[in-house]
Amino acid sequence: MGDCLDVRRPRLYSTYCIDSLNNYLEVAQLGKIIDCNRVNPASGCHHVVRGETEQELLKNAEEHAKEHGIVDVTPEIIEMIKANIEDEVPA
Ligand SMILES: [Zn+2]
Repeated sequence: MGDCLDVRRPRLYSTYCIDSLNNYLEVAQLGKIIDCNRVNPASGCHHVVRGETEQELLKNAEEHAKEHGIVDVTPEIIEMIKANIEDEVPA
C-alpha cells in the first residue's frame, strides 16, 4: 500500500490510495449518519442521512429536511441533528 491521496469525488464518498503498482484503490471510508426518525420522531420517517464529515452530514440533513417542508433550518434543529449524529457502522 502506497500513499493515500485525499482525492474526493463529488457524489462519491471515497478516498483513493495508490498501491505499489500505481493503481488507484478505492478505500471504503466510514462516515457519519443520522436517523431522521431520531431528530423528528413525529415524522415517522426512517430515512438515514449520511455524510463523509459532520459538515457534509449537516448539509445533507438540511436537504432532507426540505422534504419534510422544513425550509428554514434553525440553530435549534442543527443542535438536534448534532446531538443524534452517529458513526457509520461497517456493513
Ligand atoms: Zn425524513
